[in-house]
Amino acid sequence: MNIDTTKPHSARMYDYYLGGKDHYEVDEQAAAHVIAVYPGIKTCARTNRSFMHRATRWLAKEAGIRQFLDIGTGIPTEPNLHQVAQDVAPDARIVYADNDPIVLAYAQALLHGTPEGRTAYLQADVREPERILTAPELHETLDLNQPLALSFNALFHFVPDEYQPYALVRQFVEALPSGSYLVLSHCTPDFDPETWEKVAAIYRGGGIPAQVRSKAEVERFFEGLELVAPGVEEPHRWKPDGEVPALSSADVSFWVGVARKP
Ligand code: SAH
Repeated sequence: MNIDTTKPHSARMYDYYLGGKDHYEVDEQAAAHVIAVYPGIKTCARTNRSFMHRATRWLAKEAGIRQFLDIGTGIPTEPNLHQVAQDVAPDARIVYADNDPIVLAYAQALLHGTPEGRTAYLQADVREPERILTAPELHETLDLNQPLALSFNALFHFVPDEYQPYALVRQFVEALPSGSYLVLSHCTPDFDPETWEKVAAIYRGGGIPAQVRSKAEVERFFEGLELVAPGVEEPHRWKPDGEVPALSSADVSFWVGVARKP
């Protein structure tokens, strides 16, 4: 296992924001630097995670989705996507993918699902769609002739424009049948541009590619798809359970959306 503890990693910093234990000193230092500049980051991470739970539940319950492909999974944090989906539909099948070896190291936690369902883990980079879409682990678990939900949560702010993020998303979506869904959440500088410039600079300074995007830039990921109500929204305002939590938009600083492939 090739775990680099000389440089911070986004998965390990995110684990720190969520209160997890799976990170190193170098991650804690970079994360502490972000928190000093932007104390909202913990709210930001938690609110994004809670959107993932509600979106997964909605897809399984209301949209009848039984297959999930989740790229940029992160270090396991309960409940993970398969636990939320299989709680609604025990026969749900999930493939997870992340490019950080630390996620592979903890992947066992992602593989214990219901007996009726199935989960698999793939170490892969979103910038290699061909490799993910042709991976035997994926085809042993998912049937790409049936609708599935493809999720990219808190991932594309680590994919700057030089890697053609819109073309990448299109390539994945093109491989899916009609009736599939795209779920995407993304950090935004819209509510506090100066702070987010500093946050992105800390990530880039640690060797992590980073680019935050405006609402219009996030909406572009959904081009050609039918956005589910309420459209591209702040995560705590996307189909809240009950009242919208009283959070400041600057503390959350995310745009999220779920859309159906016609
Ligand atoms: N999706 C989870 C975790 C988000 S943290 C959630 O929303 O709660 C972002 C994750 O994306 C990290 O685990 C990081 O390792 C992963 N990641 C970053 N760049 C990636 C890339 N190019 N390919 C695949 N995964 C990537």
